[in-house]
Amino acid sequence: MQVFKFGGASVKDAPAIQNLSKILHFFAGQELVVVISAMGKTTNFLERLLKAYSSQEDTSALVEELMRYHLDVLEELLPGDDEGKNRLTALRQEMESRLAVPYSGRYDYEYDQIVSFGELLSTTLIAYYLQQSGVPNTWLNATELVMTDATYREGKVDWELTGARIREAVLAAMTKEPVVITQGFIGGTHERTRVTLGREGSDYTAAIFAYCLDAERVTIWKDVPGLLNADPKRFPDAVKLDELPYQEALELSYYGASVIHPKTLKPLQNKHIPLFVKSFFHPEDTGSMIGDCPLSTTIPSFIVKDNQTLLTIFPKDFSFVAEENLSEIFTLFAKYRVHINMMQNSALSFSVCTGTEMDRLKACVEEMKVRYKVKYNEAVTLVTIRHYTPEAIRRVTEGRSILLRQTSRTTIQYVLL
Ligand code: ASP
Ligand code: MG
Repeated sequence: MQVFKFGGASVKDAPAIQNLSKILHFFAGQELVVVISAMGKTTNFLERLLKAYSSQEDTSALVEELMRYHLDVLEELLPGDDEGKNRLTALRQEMESRLAVPYSGRYDYEYDQIVSFGELLSTTLIAYYLQQSGVPNTWLNATELVMTDATYREGKVDWELTGARIREAVLAAMTKEPVVITQGFIGGTHERTRVTLGREGSDYTAAIFAYCLDAERVTIWKDVPGLLNADPKRFPDAVKLDELPYQEALELSYYGASVIHPKTLKPLQNKHIPLFVKSFFHPEDTGSMIGDCPLSTTIPSFIVKDNQTLLTIFPKDFSFVAEENLSEIFTLFAKYRVHINMMQNSALSFSVCTGTEMDRLKACVEEMKVRYKVKYNEAVTLVTIRHYTPEAIRRVTEGRSILLRQTSRTTIQYVLL
């Protein structure tokens, strides 16, 4: 059994979905769990819709636009089809009845109830189209399989229960059809309330299914030829990394390489399940593999994260930044779920670089200000270079002012203005 994951870009329009169908035809007869994200930029769009809903604005035009996009793709795939349209319309009605309920004030909870419609719409449309185009399949609802706690927007997986449910549902489905279609990014609590796993969480969903099913391998189909040593939009000479040990890939994702969701690799490594990253334009190409292999290259890899905030925290009483202060500061970061991408301390201050959104960060800083003075620089860039060389450093720092720098034997990080 294999697990495939198709992200937003690989299902963004009718030709992309036809291409997905072609790839599945190529694997005809094999047992496949296919995890699919929301189409194109739908998740961003739903975040806008949620903003409107939470500010008590009218959402009907946005709902209309969202549905138009999906219905147009359906129409292009299956002209004149009614049944697919009915299925999408049923989801529309469900969404409209949610939006008719007054906003509860619980933003993260509402986020998961509304933003999850992206994956419900995409998988409903695609599963139906595949059915009509010769890929019989079973659509499974991830809300009932990926069981999490009620940490909205970042559900923590209950592995035991999830394993039992996934095995039961997938194995039963596969006695009928070898292909299962399900949603990435979403799960549910024991009470069946929808929860999301965090932005870009569909990779993680693929790993969850693979882990629970002891899959042979996971393949992430992307619009790039594989894992690259840098983002080709910024580094036109980026090269593909053919093979990477889990450890190295974990480090890269830890530093924010956006190729793979950071939670994805651990479950795969635990079960020695290899992860392939392949081009959905060129499925015959080898792509990249992450698995039990030696580190075969040490060319520099670049990870650039914009829109970071640099916080510098000083104890108001000028005490040294030591165990007690740090433990208090970290308790607040954990409470507000502030993710730290880099940190450094000096005698009288402590600095962290974070990409956490401003609302949450500000709430955290407010509470911190009781005992600390906090300064922040917004819109800074965090650059990480693995296997750095003098030339690689020159390349990223030239002409920029360096706010912070941190070095280890294999990695160098800069916070740049
Ligand atoms: N649709 C979600 C997002 O855009 C999940 C994913 O694509 O992995 O964040
Ligand atoms: Mg995505």
